[in-house]
Amino acid sequence: MATTARKPRKTAAKASAAKDGTQDGKLIYTFAEGNASMRSTLGGKGAGLAEMTNAGLPVPPGFTITTQACNAYYEAGKEMPPGLWDDVVAHMRKLEQQTGKGFGDPANPLLVSVRSGAAFSMPGMMDTVLNLGLNPDTVQGLIGLTGNERFAWDAWRRFVAMFGRIVLGLKAEDFDEPFEELKHEVRAKLDTDLTAEQLRDIGNRFAEIVREKTGDEFPTDPYRQLELAVRAVFDSWFGKRAHDYREFNRIPHDLGTAVNVVTMVFGNMGDDSGTGVAFTRDPNTGERALYGEYLTNAQGEDVVAGVRTPDKISQMRDAMPEVYTQFEEIAQRLEGHYRDMQDLEFTIERGTLYMLQTRSGKRTAPAAIRIAVDMVNEGVLTREEALQRVDPAQIVQLLLPRFDEAAKERMGDRLLGKGLNASPGAAVGQAIFDPDRAVEAKEAGNPVILVRIETSPDDVHGMLAAKGVLTARGGATSHAAVVARSMGLPCVAGAESLKIDYARRQMRAGTVTVAEGEMISIDGTTGEIYAGELPTIEARFEDEHELATLLSWADDVRRLQVWANADYPRDAERARAFGAQGIGLCRTEHMFFEEDRLPTVRRMILNAHTATAARAKSDSERTDEDREALATFDAALAELEKLQTDDFAGLFRAMDGLPVVIRLIDPPLHEFLPSYEELVADVTRLRTTLDLTAGSLGVDAGLVQQGLVKLFGTKDAARAMRKLGLSDPEPALQRSPATDRPALEAELAEREELLHAVEAMREQNPMLGLRGVRLGLMVPDVVKMQTRAILAGAARVAAEGLTPLPEIMIPLVGHVNELRETRQILEAEVARIVEASGQQVNYKFGTMIEVPRGALTADEIAEHAEFFSFGTNDLTQMGFGYSRDDAEGKFLMQYVDRKILPENPFQVLDVGGIGQLVRMGVEKGRATKKDLKIGICGEHGGDPQSIAFCHEVGLNYVSCSPFRVPVARLAAAQAAIASTETRDK
Ligand code: PEP
Ligand code: MG
Repeated sequence: MATTARKPRKTAAKASAAKDGTQDGKLIYTFAEGNASMRSTLGGKGAGLAEMTNAGLPVPPGFTITTQACNAYYEAGKEMPPGLWDDVVAHMRKLEQQTGKGFGDPANPLLVSVRSGAAFSMPGMMDTVLNLGLNPDTVQGLIGLTGNERFAWDAWRRFVAMFGRIVLGLKAEDFDEPFEELKHEVRAKLDTDLTAEQLRDIGNRFAEIVREKTGDEFPTDPYRQLELAVRAVFDSWFGKRAHDYREFNRIPHDLGTAVNVVTMVFGNMGDDSGTGVAFTRDPNTGERALYGEYLTNAQGEDVVAGVRTPDKISQMRDAMPEVYTQFEEIAQRLEGHYRDMQDLEFTIERGTLYMLQTRSGKRTAPAAIRIAVDMVNEGVLTREEALQRVDPAQIVQLLLPRFDEAAKERMGDRLLGKGLNASPGAAVGQAIFDPDRAVEAKEAGNPVILVRIETSPDDVHGMLAAKGVLTARGGATSHAAVVARSMGLPCVAGAESLKIDYARRQMRAGTVTVAEGEMISIDGTTGEIYAGELPTIEARFEDEHELATLLSWADDVRRLQVWANADYPRDAERARAFGAQGIGLCRTEHMFFEEDRLPTVRRMILNAHTATAARAKSDSERTDEDREALATFDAALAELEKLQTDDFAGLFRAMDGLPVVIRLIDPPLHEFLPSYEELVADVTRLRTTLDLTAGSLGVDAGLVQQGLVKLFGTKDAARAMRKLGLSDPEPALQRSPATDRPALEAELAEREELLHAVEAMREQNPMLGLRGVRLGLMVPDVVKMQTRAILAGAARVAAEGLTPLPEIMIPLVGHVNELRETRQILEAEVARIVEASGQQVNYKFGTMIEVPRGALTADEIAEHAEFFSFGTNDLTQMGFGYSRDDAEGKFLMQYVDRKILPENPFQVLDVGGIGQLVRMGVEKGRATKKDLKIGICGEHGGDPQSIAFCHEVGLNYVSCSPFRVPVARLAAAQAAIASTETRDK
C-alpha cells in the first residue's frame, strides 16, 4: 500500500460565531488557550486537558475542536463548517512544530488520538481512536525511531481495528474473531504473547477485512484518516446510542460534542510503560484513597474494554514507585484544584507520566454523600456547596432494598460466583445475554439483568432497560461499571468464573447452567451472583450516618417544611424517622378497602342513599324499607366509627406533637363495590346455570359442563359445576342438582341486589362525578362519622398525655359555597360532641385546592379555610383534561417521547400551566388571609424540580410519600440555596 499525503482540502468562508464568551468565531483552541470554565465550548475533556496544561502538568500537546463546530457541522447538513478544515491543518502544523515530528512523515511520524468530549460525560458515545496517522510507511518510521518492531506492529493492528470499528462502522467481532483465532492457533494466552510478525500479519489482515467489508481500501492518508475521524465524532453525537443516553439523562440534544486531537504517548512500549484510570477517592464508598487500576505495556482501551484484567493502582506503588508518587501528587493537586473527586486517565511512556484526562468522577449515592460530608470536614467545601453536590435522586438509592443476609446464607448453594462490586444495590431479574433482547424483555414487563462478557457503548440501550448488569470481564473502571454507576444500576463486573455463551444463550458457573430468561440475583454491593430470586430487605436509614449529617445541614438551610402522605401508623412512623414534620395527607378511604372492613363499608354504601333520604323524613313518613335501611346504615357507620377512631388515634400517636391532615372521604362510593361489568357477568352466569338445570332431576353433567364452558370459559364453568354438585362429569348421570338450587338462588339474589345498587350509582365520568366535597354534601353522615372519629381519636391520645394536632381537610372544592356548607355541617357535629363531652377540642379546618375553579377563586375559598393543600394530581388531570387513570397508558408517554410535552406532568409539575394555577391559588388565598398555611400533597411534592417551584411560590410545606421525605429535605435545601444565589445576583 502506497501512501501519499493528500493535500488538505481548502474551504472558503469564515466560521460562524461562537456565543458563550469564548472568542467569537474561533472553532479550535490549543490546550494552552483553553481553561476549565470553557466546558460548554471545549467539552469536559477538552476543558480538563486545557486546565491541566496551564497548571503545568504533563499533558501531551494537542487541540480541541469546539462544540460550536459540531453544531455548525450538523446545521450545514453534515458538512464541515467553512474554515474548519484549514484550521485543523494549521493546528496539525503547529503540533508538528511542537513535537518536532511530521504527520505522515515516514521518517519521524507524528501520531495522534482523536477523542470525543461533550460538556457532560457520555459513555454512550463514540470512544477514542488511538494511533491515528499510522500507515505501512509510518509504521516503518515508528520502528526506526523506537527500535521496537513489536510495539509498532501492535500499534498498527490496534489502529486498523479501532478505526475500522469506530470510524468505519465495522463490528468488534469482525476483528476480534480473527484475532482470537490467531491467538488460539499460535497458542498465545495474552495479546502480549504475540510476536512482531504475527502482529504485523494480523494488522494487514485487518486492513483486508476493511476492504472486504466496506469495498474501499483502508485509508492510508493521515489527513484523510483525521477528517474521517473528526466527522465520526461529530456523527456520533447524533447517533442512536448517544441520543438514548441523553434522553435518559435529560441532557439537551443541542449541546454538541467537542473533538480533542492529542499527540500520542505510548503505554505499550514495554514493561516501563503502562496506562491506567484512577479516581481520587473510591467511587463506590467515597473513602479517601486513590482507587483505580492500570496495566503495564498496554494502551488505554485495554483497561476500559476489560481485555486484560488490570492490576490495582496500589500495586503501581511497588512496580513504579517514582511514577506512583508523582501521580499521587498530581491527583491530590487536581482534586484540590477542582474541589471535587476527580476521574483521571494517564499513560506512562518509558517511565514518563502523562495525564490524559481529569474530570469530576461519577460516583454512587453513598460515595456522593460521604465525599460531600468529608469535604466539608476537610475544610474544602462549605455546607451549602456540599448540599448542592448531591443529587436528591441519589438519596432514593440509599433507601432502596438490599438482599437479606440471612437468606443469602440459606441460599449459599445457589451462589454462582463472585465478581467485582462495581455499583451497589440489589437486583433481581431474568438473565438476558443480548442488549436488544433485554429491551424486548423489559417491554414484555419482565425485570432484566443484562449479562455480557463485557459491555461497550453498543450495549447502553440494554443497560437502560435492565435492573442490573453482570459482566464476566473488566474491572471497576470498565465500561459496564462506569455506566452502571452513573445510572444508579447495581453492577457486578469481571466475574471471571462465569462462562458466558452468547450463541447458546446461557452461562455456566461450575456445574450450574443458567439459560436465558431464568432468574438470577446480583449484589452490586458485595459482587455476589445467585441463581434464582433472592429476597430483599429494607435499607436501614438510621445506619446512614453521613446522610443524616447532610440532611441536618439541609434542615438548617431549607425554608419549606417536609411532610408525608401516610395512611397508616407504620407509614407515619417511617415518615417521621425519615424526618417528616407532619402528615400532609391521610387518604381515609384507603382504610375502607381493607378486606375485613369491606363488607361493613358495602353495607353502609348500599343503604346510604335510602338512609339519607329517610333521615330527612319524619318518623311517620318513613316506610319499613326506610327504617331497615336506616338501621343497617347506622349500624355499619357505628362499626366504622370505632375502627376509624382507632386508625386516627394510631396516626396521632405516631405523630405526637406534629400536625396530621386527615382528608375526608374522596372517591365515588361505587369504587368500594364490585365493578358493574363483573356483576353483570356474575348475574348472567348464575341465571344461565339455573336455567340449564331447571326442572331436571337427573342431568347429564357432561352436557351441563360443555354448555357452561362454552358460555363462560373453563374457570367459571368449573365454579358453577362445583356449586351444582357436579364436580365430576363422569359417570354421565349425576345426582339431582335441585338440592343446590337454593344456594345458587341466594347468590343470584345477592348479586342482583348489588347490581341494582351499582347501576343506580353508575356514572359516565366518575372522576368528575359524585366524589369529594360533593359526596359529603349528599351523604353527610359519612363525613360526620369521620369527624367524630377524628376528634375521638385525638381525645383518646390527648388523654394518654400526648399532643394530637388534627387538621380536617375537604377534597375537591370548586365553589366557595361547597366549603361553607360543609363547614357548617361539620361544625354543628363538633358542637354536639363538645356539648356531650363537656370538653373543648382543637382542630384546624382546611381544604384541598385541586379543581381549577378552586384555584381561580381561592380568595373566596380562603374565607372558610385555615389551610390549603394543593392536590396537584387532580389539578393536573382537570387542568390538562387528561384522565389520570388512562393517559399514561394510552398516549402520555408517547407525548413525552415525541416531545409534545417536555415531561410527564403527573410526575413533574407543569410550571407553565398547572403551576400558574398553584401560583394564583397562593396569591389569592393569601390576599384574603395573609398567613394562610399552604402545602402540596399531590405526587409532585416529592419531585425535586417541582419542589423548587413550591419553594419559589412560597408554600409552607411539601408532602410526599415517606421514602421521598429525605429526597424532599435535600431538594428543599437546594431550592433555598438556589433562590438565595439568584437573589444575590
Ligand atoms: C391530588 O389530587 O393531588 C391528591 C393528593 O389527591 P388524590 O390523589 O387522592 O386524588
Ligand atoms: Mg385529589
